[in-house]
Amino acid sequence: MDLRKFVTVVPDYPKPGIQFKDITPLMNDGEAYKYATDQIVQYAREKEIDLVVGPEARGFIIGCPVAYSHGVGFAPVRKEGKLPREVIKVEYGLEYGKDVLTMHRDAIQPGQRVLITDDLLATGGTIEATIKLVEELGGIVAGIAFIIELTYLDGRKKLDGYDVLTLMKF
Ligand code: IMP
Repeated sequence: MDLRKFVTVVPDYPKPGIQFKDITPLMNDGEAYKYATDQIVQYAREKEIDLVVGPEARGFIIGCPVAYSHGVGFAPVRKEGKLPREVIKVEYGLEYGKDVLTMHRDAIQPGQRVLITDDLLATGGTIEATIKLVEELGGIVAGIAFIIELTYLDGRKKLDGYDVLTLMKF
């Protein structure tokens, strides 16, 4: 299936000059969403993963159906102040300023094989921070899966040494 026709490119969103890749049409189409999910479930099987981890909010949309289909759990990565129990934190750089991502301290059992999911790989900063959280909790990053990779931003450089699956490149 050609997934490209389910991605809408929105010029100048959220700022002038940015060509935003909107994947909501893909999620909105039952066949396309299932097809994309099934590709990542197949990858999860190959990597023999025990847990899926994804950053809010679109990492949940990709990761949760994969976790359900593969029969493993899902652990959310959230912005500071959103998780109710004891967390670990990592600071990461944004284009302007910094942000913080957190995970519950008991979200991963040491040695668990983790699949990280998100909708899109841009600069790689979000996933680099997510990898730090997973590894600090003793998880093994067995694979990282995205629907879209923006190759011109070179995010893969930050993920050097990790196995990465992307369903579409722009
Ligand atoms: P990175 O940290 O620079 O790799 O940015 C990736 C994060 O920003 C992901 O969580 C994406 O959801 C979001 N993002 C960046 N650009 C786009 C886009 O064009 N479409 C959808 N999400 C985007």
